[in-house]
Amino acid sequence: MIRRIADMSRRLFVRLGEAVFPAVCECCGASLVNGETMLCIDCLYGMPRTNCHRDSFSELHKRLAAPGLPIERAAAMMHYIKESPYTKLIQRAKYNDRPSIVAWLAEMFARELSAEHFFDGIDLLLPIPLHWRKQMRRVFNQSEVIALNISKVTSIKTGDNLKALPHSTQTRKNAVERAANVAGTIQTAHPEELAGLHVLLIDDVITTGATLLAAAKSIHAASPTTRISVLTLAASKLLC
Ligand SMILES: [Zn+2]
Repeated sequence: MIRRIADMSRRLFVRLGEAVFPAVCECCGASLVNGETMLCIDCLYGMPRTNCHRDSFSELHKRLAAPGLPIERAAAMMHYIKESPYTKLIQRAKYNDRPSIVAWLAEMFARELSAEHFFDGIDLLLPIPLHWRKQMRRVFNQSEVIALNISKVTSIKTGDNLKALPHSTQTRKNAVERAANVAGTIQTAHPEELAGLHVLLIDDVITTGATLLAAAKSIHAASPTTRISVLTLAASKLLC
């Protein structure tokens, strides 16, 4: 009885909250209507999708496989365009502690990719780690939130075999500087666990590819029989 009253009160509280503070689109700020979550229908359909996973050897795939790495598939949900409201959406999640935004995007993308058999044969999800000092400042690791929500849809387990070493910030560095800055800063723990597996490397955004390449190189060096695929929520237009 007490539980039922508590449930009713909670539902009433949520409804009152919605009436006073109606849910708005995270992208354009318009009020959401019934059936809309997180984004309004216009923003949802206006999302600059890459669809690069449908290309058998996309620019993104080529860039990551170029150093002779066994990259099998590459997917990026949307183009990363500076000043775009969609790019700001991902930045807001990261810097304003709003993991629910990336969780929602990741789950939606995972459902779409599942229907297109993108995850077939993938054994393990490996989020790009943050160095613990950075993670303490950020509260959460965006790549981990994406991986957990993909796991929720696909039932593929997540691993923590990648470890980050500290490096200076990547912002305001060009592609060459970024690659040099992160080279060797991601290490593979327990590579024997990855032998013969097909792993999916997960990051929130790919701009030059330096971080994902550092991770893929580390895995390949430690476990040459591991096959690697890559998934991000956003990728620079130069790559997709
Ligand atoms: Zn909108």
